[in-house]
Amino acid sequence: MNVYDSDRMKDSLAPLGYQENPDLQDADIIVINTCHIREKASEKVFSELGRLRKVKQRATEEQNREVKIVVAGCVAQAEGEEIIKRAPWVDIVVGPQTYHRLPDLVAKLDPVQRSHLIDTDFPPEVKFDFLPEQMGRRGPTAYLSVQEGCDKFCSFCVVPYTRGAEFSRSAATIIDEAKKLISNGTRELTLLGQNVNAWCGSGIDGKEWGLARLIYALAELPDLERIRYTTSHPLDMDDELIKAHAEVRKLMPHLHLPVQSGSDKILQTMNRRHTASQYLTIIDRLRAAREDIAMSGDFIVGFPGETDEDFAKTLSLIDKVGYASAYSFKYSIRPGTPAASKIEQVPEEIKSERLASLQQLLDSQQFAFNKTCENIVFDVLVNQKAEREGQLKARTPYMQSVYFEGPDSLIGKIVKVKVTNSKQNSLSADIVRQKEAI
Ligand code: SAH
Ligand code: SF4
Repeated sequence: MNVYDSDRMKDSLAPLGYQENPDLQDADIIVINTCHIREKASEKVFSELGRLRKVKQRATEEQNREVKIVVAGCVAQAEGEEIIKRAPWVDIVVGPQTYHRLPDLVAKLDPVQRSHLIDTDFPPEVKFDFLPEQMGRRGPTAYLSVQEGCDKFCSFCVVPYTRGAEFSRSAATIIDEAKKLISNGTRELTLLGQNVNAWCGSGIDGKEWGLARLIYALAELPDLERIRYTTSHPLDMDDELIKAHAEVRKLMPHLHLPVQSGSDKILQTMNRRHTASQYLTIIDRLRAAREDIAMSGDFIVGFPGETDEDFAKTLSLIDKVGYASAYSFKYSIRPGTPAASKIEQVPEEIKSERLASLQQLLDSQQFAFNKTCENIVFDVLVNQKAEREGQLKARTPYMQSVYFEGPDSLIGKIVKVKVTNSKQNSLSADIVRQKEAI
């Protein structure tokens, strides 16, 4: 979502004459878009700001040029004033729900007074209605935010506090944005939301729609080839959405469905509101709808009170599911969340040990999944040139990166390739000539 937000901030600054610049030393405005989900991500912001202070100083001293520094995103939302206290060279602090006001904030900055501006409201207006119509090119695959915020309040998570309450955009505004992206060359859309499958917006027929209905409507857009959505919560995986996986050809057979833990006791203290077996049932139903669906997930190890036995249950759940890929994290205390004040915190060494064995299992599953793709022909969407000269990078329907030799003219196209080799994190392939593909 931060990638999407950063692109939108870029769009919003374009009318003021700002363009993306790959050279930091040459920039007139530097926006750092931040994540507060874990402590490490959050702390990175302050070390990055230390580096930016020097960039700003150099521009002033050597070129008499004023560089504006903006901190956006969830760290901005959570820390607000504290950012200016710790890093007074920051000019603007803007939260995830007010970045449509960025052009006004930039215009209001007074270089003589050296003022600072902080805008971390949860405003009554919806930012999407105030962002510019004109959007820059996003490439063959693009993100589209359809839902934001969260009302679930898992006991470890800051999202409900930094992104605010659940909000769903209307189907009409989403379809309109999708059309703009498609006319600019996008062929694959990933619908985004902190709880994307909780999306519940007004449909183009004036009725209330769920995510499945939105997917059916988007699938009708002629030049859109592929649809994905992320991140989903198991509780919101309804029958319609599962059915869409069976019926919508453009909906890709890959789903990120975090479970966090395989222990019912831990799931309960996490306030996830479902059991491990309910999660497994959802996966069975998804696989009944779409046999080849590849699963991805998120896991937290060392949540307060997690015993060896609880952890073993997580490993056993992973064994049962067989993930194509996954993200896993050590529990990170987030101030202000209910789990932060629990006394049964798990020691750091145990968290590290558990993370290592969990990742070993997940890695072996990913490796095995990639191996099953060898010698198979896939339709892949070519995203970009690969780093190696003459090679292209594409994604399989299952989200794996695949590399093969081919001309740049294939970028943005769906191409048939045969997988020749698999590695831990990617596949290699050869283009299949039409005759061979039939
Ligand atoms: N809405 C999604 C997840 C959003 S946050 C869901 O409900 O599953 C992305 C991931 O970050 C979470 O799935 C979780 O695994 C991880 N995460 C969130 N807070 C965390 C914390 N305090 N410590 C460690 N990992 C955390
Ligand atoms: Fe955070 Fe996801 Fe839980 Fe919401 S549902 S509180 S975003 S982990």
